[in-house]
Amino acid sequence: MIDIDKVRADFPILKEKVNGKPLVYFDNAATSQKPQVVIDSIVNYYSTINSNIHRGVHTLSQKATDAYEAARLKVQQHFNAKNSYEIILTAGTTHSINIVATGFTSLLNKGDEIIVSALEHHSNIVPWQMLCERTGAILKVIPMNLEGELVMSEYDNLLSNKTKLVFVNHVSNALGTINPIEEIIEKAHNIGAAVLIDGAQSCPHIKPNVQALNVDFYVASAHKLCGPTGVGVLYGKEEWLNKLPPYQGGGEMIKKVTFEKTTYADLPHKFEAGTPNICGGIAFGTALDYMNSIGFDNIAAYEHKLLEYATKRLLEIEDLKIYGTSKNKTAVISFNIGNIHPFDIGSIIDKLGIAVRTGHHCAQPIMDFYKIPGTIRASFSFYNTFEEIDSLISALTKAKMMLS
Ligand SMILES: *Cc1c(COP(=O)(O)O)cnc(C)c1O
Repeated sequence: MIDIDKVRADFPILKEKVNGKPLVYFDNAATSQKPQVVIDSIVNYYSTINSNIHRGVHTLSQKATDAYEAARLKVQQHFNAKNSYEIILTAGTTHSINIVATGFTSLLNKGDEIIVSALEHHSNIVPWQMLCERTGAILKVIPMNLEGELVMSEYDNLLSNKTKLVFVNHVSNALGTINPIEEIIEKAHNIGAAVLIDGAQSCPHIKPNVQALNVDFYVASAHKLCGPTGVGVLYGKEEWLNKLPPYQGGGEMIKKVTFEKTTYADLPHKFEAGTPNICGGIAFGTALDYMNSIGFDNIAAYEHKLLEYATKRLLEIEDLKIYGTSKNKTAVISFNIGNIHPFDIGSIIDKLGIAVRTGHHCAQPIMDFYKIPGTIRASFSFYNTFEEIDSLISALTKAKMMLS
């Protein structure tokens, strides 16, 4: 059970007014808000132990190193990774994907095939296109249907002994569809391909279990699950991380440097060149503690009620069309009203204090599929309320009257 008043009191920003109206924040799929414990963690770090990690013998440096490595262990535990060194702390999902996509350059040959899905975020499309340009590999796409689900029979047809890699998001950020990743992973493994799952949009709602999934790579961003921006995670199976070359050269990622030859550090440092986002990594750990204290089962159950209520109320508005109607989805609703441009509606309801996303949501291929320029996307979190959904409905009704 979510004690909504108690939860809301944890988030100082929820008391803010926007354009003179109480803030209604429904842009959680873009980034989540931060609870006071995470904000405190950042302030405490800079106020008490700020220093560089893994370097100094001095006390502060050791404290900072311990706190940073403790955060890595929290991430390991949260993802249920077998080893802490399989957790690479990165700058975010995009960075994590690029580490893998760049690393595969030397492992692919011309004519090899890579499979992505029609439901991907641009950050899980473009790095693979760049990889194909470098290697001559070919990109194949699992198509989607009108409900916004992947057509799994087509996936079966795409898999062959040429397939080397499969990249799919766990949850679509534009539509909220939860993809059948267990099946995707198993079928890819049956033909010997590696799988990367983009968990940027699932992690705020679903606790991943990378060992049970038997996934090769799983990536996410801290900022979508109550943590700060500029931090993320790349989980990789040890055997894969050992196969991939380092992404960036620099300090921290080496064992020994001479001008003749440099040997790379062991995992995870091989992929962590330079001074990382120390404070952000520590705050990421705090954010995971916070979300686990609320409980992911509670979060999922509460958000599902918000989703059902919002769907029902939105469909009361005449000419409103929802894109992405899978039964299996997180609390994200993409919609349009008649032929009104999403941006116009977004601007009007912003004046009423309501924050939604409008546009293509970094997923242009999905918009092309539906032949629309974009949608209005309301994405809900466990700190949102049913009353806030009522405010959205009356704001949309007002906007519709003004624009039609
Ligand atoms: C947000 C998001 C990304 C990109 O995450 P960044 O934090 O911007 O790197 C990638 N994939 C999905 C599905 C997302 O929702």
